[in-house]
Amino acid sequence: MSAQSVRAARARAAAVGAGREGLNIILAENPEAEREAEALGADSRDASRPRPLLGVPVALKDNIATLQMPTTCGSRILAGYRSPYEATVARRLRDAGAVLFCTTNMDEFAMGSSTEHSAYGPTRNPVDPTRVPGGSSGGSAAAVAAGIVPIALGSETGGSVRQPASFCGVVGVKPTYGRVSRFGLVAFASSLDQVGVLARTVGDAALGLRVIAGRDPLDATSAEVPVPDYADVARRAARAGGRPLAGTVVGRPREYFPEQLHTGVRERCAAALDALRRLGAEIRDVSLPHTDYAIPVYYIVAPAEASSNLARFDGVRYGPRVPRESLVEMYDATRSVGFGPEVTRRILLGTYVLSAGYYDAYYRRAQAVRALIAADFRRVFADGVDVLFTPTTPGPAFPIGAVSDPYEMYLNDIFTATANLAGVPAISVPVGATGGLPIGGQIIAPHFGEARMFAVAAALEAALGADTGTAAGGGIGVGAGTVS
Ligand code: GLN
Repeated sequence: MSAQSVRAARARAAAVGAGREGLNIILAENPEAEREAEALGADSRDASRPRPLLGVPVALKDNIATLQMPTTCGSRILAGYRSPYEATVARRLRDAGAVLFCTTNMDEFAMGSSTEHSAYGPTRNPVDPTRVPGGSSGGSAAAVAAGIVPIALGSETGGSVRQPASFCGVVGVKPTYGRVSRFGLVAFASSLDQVGVLARTVGDAALGLRVIAGRDPLDATSAEVPVPDYADVARRAARAGGRPLAGTVVGRPREYFPEQLHTGVRERCAAALDALRRLGAEIRDVSLPHTDYAIPVYYIVAPAEASSNLARFDGVRYGPRVPRESLVEMYDATRSVGFGPEVTRRILLGTYVLSAGYYDAYYRRAQAVRALIAADFRRVFADGVDVLFTPTTPGPAFPIGAVSDPYEMYLNDIFTATANLAGVPAISVPVGATGGLPIGGQIIAPHFGEARMFAVAAALEAALGADTGTAAGGGIGVGAGTVS
């Protein structure tokens, strides 16, 4: 294996200006990438070790531990921090032949929807650099959209892969809770967190997920459920022709198409639903009545868990320390300097909702409503709906600096946080553009229903590509064995 793919990624990163002064996508590059790519050659002919990503450069969000690069979570409190171990997803990518190329910018500790909350400055959207790429996996979405890498990993707690995918015009998948190991993913809200995949095409996303999915003894919440060949499923669906979705029931939840929905989003999603119908699917109107509670519930549960998970960053074990006379003063100074305003807000909010006297009113009640949101999904799927189709976001990418009110920022997650709360898988697929800005459509499936979700997504991608003449091609097509 030559290091040519790595050199091409480096050249592309330079050409688009992916560094700090430009789009600010990359936080660190793997200095060993070329050497690692070259070393892959040695045993590449060993057929007993299939390596579907042989030589493919990949990017990882900066909250996924690697041995080659720092893991800072976009935070000052972890500036320069190097993990003593690597995340299971990073190891699995390498085992599949991928080369870890770079880490990508993100909202600090994955809290945000625009990548403006990074301690290392905002990432710019490659489609329109005056706009945000979405977040919190904005750097990973931008790395794929800018053509630097074909596949990048992000993380999801409440939409952080799907929303940036939608804003940047790429594919983003959030797997079922438990589908992918969280070992080595820095915890934000442990009952919601999941590693996700960003890619140019549904097929590449399917392949990426197939590589990282599956039980991991190092993560007790990873599930012992067989991993289908998602890439093969996607490929067959895209090539089927005719009416490949005949017999598939696609639910259209009315709560996800409110009056105020952006017109461009409404039109592109309507066109996508028409395409699904032409592919043979039955479109059925359904209701998920507790959808309105998703944002309030999410913004209680996620900060509560975050306030506990982030307690470990106190200047003792991780990252730089601000020295002071006493231990408590040292904690105080390190955390005050180390955490940015959004992370501080979440920790305060989380500590408050967990405090004695308020626990029942907030946290316990939020957990009860979360169960109702999950039950909404269970009910529609039990009633014969195979997948749901919705917009991914209420509008397209907004200008950098345009959203300063935290609550307005939180509303970006209105259509995505529900899948995290319920634990079900969901994917965002480009469905067109409005005013030159990409729009994503979301397909949500039942627990461990990723195969069906990929099939519908791949068929839709192929149909829309044919409609607009912007064929869905351009993926690495690694599943087809075309990587050289
Ligand atoms: N935007 C949401 C938040 O700020 C979701 C973040 C995520 O999924 N990591 O919490």
